[in-house]
Amino acid sequence: MKLRKVTAFATTALVLSLAATACGSSDSNDSGSGSGGGGKIKVGIKFDQPGLGLKQPDGTYAGFDVDVATYVAGQLGYKPSQIEWVETKSADRENALARGDVKFIAATYSINDERKQKVDFAGPYLLAHQDLLVKKDSTIAQATDLNGKNLCSVTGSTSAQNIKDKIAPKANLRENAGYSECIAALQSGAVDAVTTDDSILAGFAAQDKFKGQFKLAGLKLSNENYGVGVKKGDSATVTKINTALEKMVSSGAWQTAVTKNFGPAGYKNEPAPKIGDIVK
Ligand code: GLU
Repeated sequence: MKLRKVTAFATTALVLSLAATACGSSDSNDSGSGSGGGGKIKVGIKFDQPGLGLKQPDGTYAGFDVDVATYVAGQLGYKPSQIEWVETKSADRENALARGDVKFIAATYSINDERKQKVDFAGPYLLAHQDLLVKKDSTIAQATDLNGKNLCSVTGSTSAQNIKDKIAPKANLRENAGYSECIAALQSGAVDAVTTDDSILAGFAAQDKFKGQFKLAGLKLSNENYGVGVKKGDSATVTKINTALEKMVSSGAWQTAVTKNFGPAGYKNEPAPKIGDIVK
């Protein structure tokens, strides 16, 4: 009898300690499946897009997407120190979510039907437009001027796809892994123009090292509705992120992030979109 009681107690203690261990381990390697605790959350951003997602020389991250992601993670229960930033280049985003490398992605990620086959989106949280960046003295002023010219964009982007499908199928399109490589090619004269979202191009043009060298054509060649990407089927996270984005706008934090990140580049952004309101 006495022995039985001891065994029962030991069993209970063992169960309790196993439960505690299970909680601890799911927290510590959370890409994250729940709210904060002591664990980390992995978030996908761009590392080379000034004003949106930029890894700075001191190793910290800055930009509008970084601020949106930090706010969203906060609402999911994670402090900034619990965020692990992961670079998700344009062509890697769907796979990174499918593999579970990251919990969500805020990386100038346009919502479209093709991508919705593979991932789910919360948002949108920003509306941008495809545009062209050219040298200050360039005569390229509209999309038809691109035919026969050397143009740079990024693999896996809507910008590259739009050029091939409709905007300038006869342009000589070169595709790189990131926009920073395209900007270097524009500066060296290897290409005549870079095309992607105006939000991204404005950020590059305003960098000290490029000041006065480039201009945006100011063409609204497409509507790019930025969403927060999550793994296909994770509707619970989509709902939580939508609530977080709504709060970011209503609390004024969205406008603060816009002013801080787009102000220096003089980027005239569109007003905050409503959740689910996709501009075609
Ligand atoms: N927003 C566009 C896209 O999602 C272009 C920018 C990017 O490549 O991230 O493809």
